[in-house]
Amino acid sequence: MNAVPSSSETHVMPTYGRLPVALSHGQGCWVWDTQGRRLLDALGGIAVNTLGHNHPRLVPALQDQVSKLIHTSNYYLVPLQEQLAAKLCEISGLANVFFCNSGLEANEAALKIARKFGHDRGNTSPEVLVFEGAFHGRSIATLSATANPKIQAGFGPLVPGFVRAPLNDVAAVEAALDAHPNITAIFLETIQGEGGINPARIEFLQALRSLCDERDLLLMLDEVQCGVGRTGKWFAHQWAGIKPDVMPLAKGLGSGVPIGAVVCGPRAANVLKAGNHGTTFGGNPLAMRAGVETLKIMEEERLLANAEAVGTTLRNALAEGLAGESGVVEIRGQGLMLGVELDRPAGVLLQQALDAGLLISITADRVVRLLPPLILTHDEAHQIAALLLPLITAHLAQPKP
Ligand SMILES: *Cc1c(COP(=O)(O)O)cnc(C)c1O
Repeated sequence: MNAVPSSSETHVMPTYGRLPVALSHGQGCWVWDTQGRRLLDALGGIAVNTLGHNHPRLVPALQDQVSKLIHTSNYYLVPLQEQLAAKLCEISGLANVFFCNSGLEANEAALKIARKFGHDRGNTSPEVLVFEGAFHGRSIATLSATANPKIQAGFGPLVPGFVRAPLNDVAAVEAALDAHPNITAIFLETIQGEGGINPARIEFLQALRSLCDERDLLLMLDEVQCGVGRTGKWFAHQWAGIKPDVMPLAKGLGSGVPIGAVVCGPRAANVLKAGNHGTTFGGNPLAMRAGVETLKIMEEERLLANAEAVGTTLRNALAEGLAGESGVVEIRGQGLMLGVELDRPAGVLLQQALDAGLLISITADRVVRLLPPLILTHDEAHQIAALLLPLITAHLAQPKP
């Protein structure tokens, strides 16, 4: 049987434009396709495979958990939820956690908290301030919060109650808050991922924190992609020395086991009461064990420091290799969340990188995005650069479309 069926023979709904390769197994930052070809993974399953593939400590822990309990339901106490929640609160300085299964679910819970926070204050039409370039997921509410018209097209009517402002523009935020007194929360990615690796500036985050304090609003930071060590701190906002009130997490938290979490500070921790929210799978023992072990291994293997140091190596290698290339608009990001913005569409590089033995992603049409596992070595960072740089250079040498 063909590994990759053509669209006429597939029974999987055609919602993804997929590359014609199927992967069979992995080891560390490397994966093998079904033809036996080895590929360097600079995508990490879209910032999910924190510990790479077949991690020697994660795998036995998950095997142990599978043999004990995979799922029990939230009718009963789940001690591993307590364990993971306590750890998330310790490393974030926040107060409690709601567990779910994905990024958009974490964001849905955050949006429910924002609305309930308003209702608790007598505001029956609460609104949420969101940003240009934002991506928060593909449910009806989270695609309404998302800024990309391609993601929204065909799915109207959108959920009302979102006001949009430009990123990194404090005056525009103040104007939006003045014009929309029903806003109860400011919601943004600390570093926009799908939008093209666009960081919220440190001063902007600090200004938002002050505005939320002054006006009794919730600061909700979507760290689904940039959180859990990817930038070299546990959470990207920690570079700004602030704390959010609500922080949705997902992607990297379970090293590949589906998991989502909403971590809340004291102002948001008791907004949702018994019966206000729930999920069947959320917080199941397998996902919780994956989260507990991921954070433990990250600490013991000093992966925050590694993400920062190897991220610097990778960024420097890209910057040196692309110095003087006028088609490179900017190299952005932090730690192992890096984007190279080109002056033209970059989609063709996906297949070219695959042919060269490298997994990457292209986002916002023109941004080459790198999200490798946090176990990446300096040597592997140089290998990523060595594979990628000639492709970018050759692409930029073509006539600009
Ligand atoms: C991926 C992502 C989401 C959505 O997560 P899913 O698990 O795909 O639902 C939300 N917000 C951000 C910032 C993301 O990167």
